[in-house]
Amino acid sequence: HVRIDGLNKWFAALQVLKNIDLSVRPGVRIVVCGPSGSGKSTLIRCINGLEPFQKGTIQLDGIALGRNARDTATARRLTGMVFQSFNLFPHLTVLANCTLALRRVLLKPAREAEEIAMQHLTAVRIPEKAQAFPAQLSGGQQQRVAIARALCLNPRIMLFDEPTSALDPEMIKEVLDVMIALAGSGVTMVCVTHEMGFAREVADEIVFMDEGRIVEHASSRDFFSRAAHPRARLFLDTIL
Ligand code: ATP
Ligand code: MG
Repeated sequence: HVRIDGLNKWFAALQVLKNIDLSVRPGVRIVVCGPSGSGKSTLIRCINGLEPFQKGTIQLDGIALGRNARDTATARRLTGMVFQSFNLFPHLTVLANCTLALRRVLLKPAREAEEIAMQHLTAVRIPEKAQAFPAQLSGGQQQRVAIARALCLNPRIMLFDEPTSALDPEMIKEVLDVMIALAGSGVTMVCVTHEMGFAREVADEIVFMDEGRIVEHASSRDFFSRAAHPRARLFLDTIL
């Protein structure tokens, strides 16, 4: 369970998150959308513990991020993150990318780590590439490996930041299909995306951000049928 209360963040004098309150219950899938620069990535990065914030609280299963180093490390471990740009380690094989944290952070023996990694590589339908290096894979394949790698640590919540926006059109579907399957398996997700078809199919709730604020937070059905905020309306009109 993620609880964000009164979150405010500044980059120097620029306030990029303004009084964000958001609760993500287990099993819920939230899509975050909104115009460029509205603070979507910053919000996700705060939940993942990648960005410090100045005011408010973020709790993951009751453990506060940013209060002290130990709690922050514990809370961070509950999240899995997938970036726009894949971020695989180029010098490691697919399998080694997936087993690295299992071995180094969770101190699993090599054999067990590899078994866990192969399960997740199978789930994202790419077990045959276990010994390949990232540069030998297509963008869609790399992103599926990145998803498998994040899942290996058995996170309570998966965070996605525009996971398909760096992909060629023909590869977007293979990644979305994996994410749809993931959603079907009950994984808690917060996903920044402009893929409104995906949002419609998968999201329970839609959060729409503008200028650092959540200006609309509704069930997916309500959002698509009658988003109230004019900025959200405009966004929907241009994107759909
Ligand atoms: P996009 O849709 O383009 O990805 P976004 O909604 O993800 O946009 P953010 O990347 O969260 O927006 O950025 C929010 C604001 O914070 C923007 O004004 C951006 O310029 C600013 N910002 C982001 N990262 C930094 C940084 N490291 N230093 C200073 N300002 C930053
Ligand atoms: Mg962004």
